[in-house]
Amino acid sequence: MNTINLSKRLQTVAHFIPMGSRLADIGSDHAYLPCHAVKKGIVTFAIAGEVADGPYQSALKQVQTEGLTNNIFVRKGDGLEVVEPGEVDCVTIAGMGGTLIANILERGKEKLTDVKRLILQPNIGAISIRKWLLENGWMLISEEILEEDGKIYEVLAAEKGDPYIGYEENLESGLLLGPLLQIKQNEPFRKKWTNEKDNWKRILRQLEQAGDKPEIRRKKEELLHKISLVEEALGRK
Ligand code: SAM
Repeated sequence: MNTINLSKRLQTVAHFIPMGSRLADIGSDHAYLPCHAVKKGIVTFAIAGEVADGPYQSALKQVQTEGLTNNIFVRKGDGLEVVEPGEVDCVTIAGMGGTLIANILERGKEKLTDVKRLILQPNIGAISIRKWLLENGWMLISEEILEEDGKIYEVLAAEKGDPYIGYEENLESGLLLGPLLQIKQNEPFRKKWTNEKDNWKRILRQLEQAGDKPEIRRKKEELLHKISLVEEALGRK
């Protein structure tokens, strides 16, 4: 991978960056995504934010090597604290767990007033992001799911608007599976949820041997419920 030929995962994220955006890529690591966006002429201004020193140094080095120091500003800090209010209108956060992404958004809320689009790529736990979007007035405008090197990734793009759009059918299964993804049900979607469901069934069988304590019973009920949501969704296609 280089900054022209990104991974399929990061290319999918880049695809959602509106032309001419002022971008903040939070948790940028090597700054591949902002470098790509500038080199492809998608943006001319980007902030690459990093909390950890190693990745921050990698980002600085990458931006210098690519000769993009007039366009990409590498800043060290936690989440959206690297962004000044009103400085950017598009935020990408990719390659982390959904809970961490939702937490970064929650703690940096005041920096999102002028942001028009969020592009979020959780490696796991997209449900935490969908819940945060719903509670904070962000409408999902698109969702993608893709497989790369044996791993399945989701990419969520959101703009301010009625957050309940797309969830009319079933809020619970929409939050878990993705309201837009479960309509399309492409191959990676079916593979991911078939695997998850089989895994939950395996855990359920193990729990059958674990006695009948209230917390075990609660766990079993929760798994059964999630299995039924997934089976119902998969059965719709
Ligand atoms: N975004 C890149 C990608 O998708 O390929 C890098 C993903 S890397 C696995 C996650 C990066 O997020 C790490 O470099 C980590 O240091 C950074 N990170 C984690 N929590 C962060 C936070 N609160 N603020 C800024 N960066 C963070």
